[in-house]
Amino acid sequence: MTGRPRIFRGIGASPGVAIGTVFLLDRRKVRVPRYHIQPENVAHELERLKAAVARSVGQLEGIRQRFAGEGMEHQTILEAHAMMVRDRALFDEAAGLVTEELINAEWATSRVIERIREMFGRLSDAYFRERRGDIDFIGDRIIRNLVGQIADVADLDLPEAGTIVVAHDLSPADAAILSRQRVTAFVTEAGGKTSHTSIVARSLDVPAVVGVRGILDAAGSGDLVVVDGLEGHVLLRPTSNQVERGRKRADHYQRLNLELLEAKALPAETLDGFSVKVAGNIELPTELAAVLRRGAEGIGLYRTEFLFLGRSEAPSEEDHYRTYCRIFDEVGDQEVTIRTFDLGGEKVFGAMPTESEPNPALGLRAIRFCLKSPAVFEPQVAGLLRAAVHGRLRIMLPMVSGVEEVRAARQIIATVVRQLSRDGKPHKSDVPVGVMVEVPSAAITADYLAAESDFFSIGTNDMLQFLLAVDRTNERVDYLYLPLHPAVLRVLATCVHAATAHRIPVSVCGEMAANPLYTPIFVALGVGELSMNAASIPSVKRLIRELAKADCDELFAEVQRTTTHAEALALVTSFMHEKTSLASSPWQTGA
Ligand code: PEP
Ligand code: MG
Repeated sequence: MTGRPRIFRGIGASPGVAIGTVFLLDRRKVRVPRYHIQPENVAHELERLKAAVARSVGQLEGIRQRFAGEGMEHQTILEAHAMMVRDRALFDEAAGLVTEELINAEWATSRVIERIREMFGRLSDAYFRERRGDIDFIGDRIIRNLVGQIADVADLDLPEAGTIVVAHDLSPADAAILSRQRVTAFVTEAGGKTSHTSIVARSLDVPAVVGVRGILDAAGSGDLVVVDGLEGHVLLRPTSNQVERGRKRADHYQRLNLELLEAKALPAETLDGFSVKVAGNIELPTELAAVLRRGAEGIGLYRTEFLFLGRSEAPSEEDHYRTYCRIFDEVGDQEVTIRTFDLGGEKVFGAMPTESEPNPALGLRAIRFCLKSPAVFEPQVAGLLRAAVHGRLRIMLPMVSGVEEVRAARQIIATVVRQLSRDGKPHKSDVPVGVMVEVPSAAITADYLAAESDFFSIGTNDMLQFLLAVDRTNERVDYLYLPLHPAVLRVLATCVHAATAHRIPVSVCGEMAANPLYTPIFVALGVGELSMNAASIPSVKRLIRELAKADCDELFAEVQRTTTHAEALALVTSFMHEKTSLASSPWQTGA
């Protein structure tokens, strides 16, 4: 162990605290040989390219099969990567460069990958920007196969348990293999909360911190390290005091987690009998297992736009049908809320007509895009209505800004129902259709919308972004992203009251729902359902069991008299200290 102690701050991507030794996985630099070839060598070069692509597909398929049937969340991602490698367009473009510019296969591949990367980089949506990582992984794999370097970490012999892998980035394939090698935690320089390393780490239940800039240059294999996935800290070469503190936090977290998991099946009901349904949010069907394991009562938000990952064209009716049926198979008779595509504008893929927009967050996206793109929307609606025969489905429309959009969507649904009847395909015609309330105009006219919707789900992520005029992906204005701002509280109350007056269920599915700090507010408002990521479910359920609605009502009355977020936060924080055990939990969260 050499060097002085260093603290790195990143993004806590998977909760938990781990202490171990660094295993440095520096896979940043695959050397890309660049040279021109003779015209007579073109055929040979194309053969090399073909063989490298085939080998890459085979490797990805092999890894996927090794992990099949284990409910691993990255199965779908590996499938998507294999599809991207197999994509004819990628091969054709690289082959075109080899033939026309007489350059070698490695160079041609890296140019195609760079072009796709740049295209992704121009998209302003954070999720899709992060997909640049997927492009890099597949490019890296093909090039490694061309130059004869190992593409997988399968042959690595990790020294022992207690190994903490520190890497620039990890592919889902790497993570899958490393998980077999008893990796205790992951630290990566790249990635955000929705990057695949994070998704995989959460599904494996190992702590992870991502977005840790500069760690690769500072760490050496064998260094001692404390990884705090709760706070997003990495302590490199910690002092003995820091190790001791880390150990205590790790024990505390593990004990609480066990307690929480033991109680996960208990209903979330307050001391005075107010019941909240706690459901799960998923992006990939393979996340279902993790959500259910943690006590989710159904799915409150399935972000179906993730179905576009790795595809060069929109999913077909059959793709939709099969995907949703698989979900019902696993979920049984619990309710599943499936959100229709929240994409468009900058989130345009493959065969879909691309048009860049000056302000994509306010552009032709979500329901606006779907209403204008029947070829994309109708197969989804048909798949949903057919799958509804096999389970309890609710259809949710994203980014609704007014009543007309609900009417237009209902008309399309009615048209699809008629078509399915004509085709003799079994389907359901009375699936509840609800609105995701996340645009201020929808919230302000919530009474009109409630009259024409079967349910509401409040998307606080976008609601805050639009209400407070704060770009949710821009860390420079993060300090203005204030969930307890009086405007937010007023709008939440407007939505819930409209739903209650029209006797339709209302849930919250944005990140606010996952933060226990805001649970008393939702209880006071009378929100009957909260939907969140797997990791947050047990703690929110337990918190609800510790609360009395009457106390929450009193707190909310006081909070409503405050005029700033800071005052409201102070009231809520002291309430938590006084009335709940949350204050002593190691993962207490701020605003
Ligand atoms: C939201 O906006 O609150 C939400 C849940 O949807 P997304 O994060 O996918 O925009
Ligand atoms: Mg949203």
